[in-house]
Amino acid sequence: MTGTKIPHGHPRAKSLRIREELIEHYNNGIVTDAGLIAHGRGEAFDYILGENTNKPALNAIKVAAAALLTAKKPVISVNGNTAALVARETVQLAHAIKAKIEVNLFYRSLERELAIKKLLEGSGASEVLGVGKEASERIPELSSERRRVDPQGILIADVVLVPLEDGDRTEALVKMGKKVIAIDLNPLSRTAQKATITIVDNVVRAMPKLVEIAAKLKNQGMMKCNEILLNFDNQKNLAESKTLIKERLSEIAKTSKHLNIEDEKHEL
Ligand code: ATP
Repeated sequence: MTGTKIPHGHPRAKSLRIREELIEHYNNGIVTDAGLIAHGRGEAFDYILGENTNKPALNAIKVAAAALLTAKKPVISVNGNTAALVARETVQLAHAIKAKIEVNLFYRSLERELAIKKLLEGSGASEVLGVGKEASERIPELSSERRRVDPQGILIADVVLVPLEDGDRTEALVKMGKKVIAIDLNPLSRTAQKATITIVDNVVRAMPKLVEIAAKLKNQGMMKCNEILLNFDNQKNLAESKTLIKERLSEIAKTSKHLNIEDEKHEL
């Protein structure tokens, strides 16, 4: 039920507000019931990770910005949860890195595609690919509806940002020779493991940070971007996220208390 007033001082206020947004977009047909469940899995990891953008996440965001800025044909792939949570930031990022935006859904219906397109356009998008007959091409070896792509977008992209993706498509896109950037709170998921660059962070924090860092990095030039890309090892960075989970769980085990959610700040 939406519309419930969340008290300001509630310790879980931020997280509850995100839920409210998702429920609102569930009611208007943008988010699916499976999308709500998927969010719950993400929330569990976010809780353990401390609900902040930690060091490995920030590192991956910087590398993702470098990959997007040096791309020839970058595309941001948008599903229901992404549209519901970060439509505005998706459009801001597309402008900053000159990327195309494409709707790509596991549960496709023209009605849903159009609702997501409308939401993105309402947030400032001038072009939204992958809607209806425009998604006329197929990604090889993929059976889900996520295989349908736009010949002007994901099909010819060299770098694809896939916030909240599934493992099969990530793997298929990598096999097609594309660099895949995933945002996924679960460092153990197939998506996280198969992506070229994995940002283990909540999409609501990662996307605005990506916009901010891309704008800064743009001024530092392509040499700087290439240097950042050369020094990155995704498996090593993912291992740091897993270590963080281990450390935070050990902390709870020692103190027998619930984890305090800290608002830690990490500098670039
Ligand atoms: P995979 O196929 O990669 O193994 P999965 O089957 O575990 O993935 P899905 O149901 O396809 O997962 O998608 C949910 C994924 O998205 C989960 O890994 C979850 O942690 C992540 N997730 C959900 N909400 C968010 C969010 N707000 N920010 C970042 N990640 C999220």
